[in-house]
Amino acid sequence: MTAAPADLHARALHLLQTIWGYPEFRGVQADIVAQVAAGGNALVLMPTGGGKSLCYQLPSLLRPGVGIVVSPLIALMKDQVDTLRQNGVRAAFLNSTLLPHEAREVEDSLLAGHLDLLYVAPERLLLPRTLELLERAPVALFAVDEAHCVSQWGHDFRPEYQQLSVLPGRFPGLPRVALTATADERTRADIKSVLHLWDAPQFVSSFDRPNIQYRVGLKDSPKSQLLHFIREEHAGDAGIVYCLSRKSVEETAKWLSAQGLDALAYHAGLSPAERNRVQDRFLNEEGVVVCATVAFGMGIDKPNVRFVAHLDLPKSMEGYYQETGRAGRDGLPSTAWMVYGLSDVVNVRRMLAGSDAPEEVKRVESAKLDALLTYCEAATCRRQVLLQYFGEDLPGPCGNCDLCHTPPQVRDLTREAQMALSAAIRTGNRFGAAHLTDVLLGRETDKVLAQGHHLLPTFGVGREHDEKLWRSVLRQLVSLGYLSADDHFGLRATGKSRAILKEGQKLLLREDALLPKAGKGKRERASASRAAVSSEHAPLFEALRAWRLQKAKELGLPPYTIFHDA
Ligand code: ADP
Ligand code: MG
Repeated sequence: MTAAPADLHARALHLLQTIWGYPEFRGVQADIVAQVAAGGNALVLMPTGGGKSLCYQLPSLLRPGVGIVVSPLIALMKDQVDTLRQNGVRAAFLNSTLLPHEAREVEDSLLAGHLDLLYVAPERLLLPRTLELLERAPVALFAVDEAHCVSQWGHDFRPEYQQLSVLPGRFPGLPRVALTATADERTRADIKSVLHLWDAPQFVSSFDRPNIQYRVGLKDSPKSQLLHFIREEHAGDAGIVYCLSRKSVEETAKWLSAQGLDALAYHAGLSPAERNRVQDRFLNEEGVVVCATVAFGMGIDKPNVRFVAHLDLPKSMEGYYQETGRAGRDGLPSTAWMVYGLSDVVNVRRMLAGSDAPEEVKRVESAKLDALLTYCEAATCRRQVLLQYFGEDLPGPCGNCDLCHTPPQVRDLTREAQMALSAAIRTGNRFGAAHLTDVLLGRETDKVLAQGHHLLPTFGVGREHDEKLWRSVLRQLVSLGYLSADDHFGLRATGKSRAILKEGQKLLLREDALLPKAGKGKRERASASRAAVSSEHAPLFEALRAWRLQKAKELGLPPYTIFHDA
């Protein structure tokens, strides 16, 4: 290389331009590079596609020795290393795909100081042999990519990642930089604790992806809705369609192919060879649509993915953000499209309730679902709701999401919500929606009379509305987590309900989410009645339970599983 400039920033910029060919740093990249190159630790929270790789690659070149990159993405290591090598960086990787003699060659170059960057799978790094090697090698820094894998709360949890806690003790003098696109507080705390980054500066860049248009609709006939969306807006474009189960992945891919689209299926149940084939076609050909479970996508850097569609609710806002973030990395207009049905919601809630996971896990899962539903059922700018979740305030509505384009009709139902909550509380937090509706409407049914509920002050307070509205209100209160259903579908006001009862929290409900259209087709009727499950009776609960068991069985999972299926 030509005579390199002396001061750190100038040297960094020089490398950025000569090796990567980028004219300038993006956002916080420059600060992170400066911090780490100077020997400091860092926690980097940057959205998918934000440019995290550079934040450890460049400091590795600026510091003497080799940068050790821990990454769970074995399948992508070779590509990454090849690209770096093409740019003149001395890079290598160590993982289970190498033959013994290949691995030995890498180890030799490591010890000889002939490497700038070494990608290592966590399980490989943790082998006593590798750790001993690293103690003898000239190491510049440790980078832990996809650092959210340390967290048990996320869907990418990897037990080996927790064992990375050996690094601070064994390599005390070396900088550690952890990078992730998952920014929630709990994940952050886990990363800090495992990698001893309590005092490390955090670099957070905006999570806004202005070129992605966010849209969420009610599920009706999902496959046709999807086909219509692709044909109308993304014909011939590359896209990813996320489904919950392997079975629906297969079905959707098959169906789209039958309609003439170039659609492929991807899930963890396929052979590695088949998965590679799908990934290669997606990366290297134009206009391939991959139908996949969440197993697909982490680390995939295809710039021109034009749409990401969700046919089922994602697991959490983090999951949704990461998955949709795979669209539009090139900065051009792209769409994040999702349909969800209230039946999905009820099902997930039932699964949570029926799970024998520890209480704390259930609470976290349930809170995550609430956040997602609040997003789905948002009445105002969707992008604002999304970013709010990651602690970021947008100055105003984005003007681009579905809700900005077509503001939904909303109704302030705070007073009705208060009535419904007090009906639940005053009847002892154990009656179902049908009975609560009777109480609110002032119906003297046998059950009402037998329970003496006609004597309550809430009896008949809701006469001004009809039964349909009350059922909607109750359902929404369940969806949003103000009411929770017990095993017999009795409704109980949750701690959260205080916000509505006492703290002036408003309940603005969308008219369309409020009153499902009268069923036209069979399918619509079926989903509408399932959606209203909290207000129907035993047969429906049975159907739900059966559905859940069957779904778990299909996926080969225990009956109480909350679907993390990959
Ligand atoms: P992440 O790991 O955060 O998802 P990557 O490191 O894979 O993101 O980078 C995403 C894309 O952004 C890549 O195509 C990369 O080449 C590009 N990129 C990163 N930094 C810059 C920069 N300073 N200028 C232009 N492009 C950049
Ligand atoms: Mg990355």
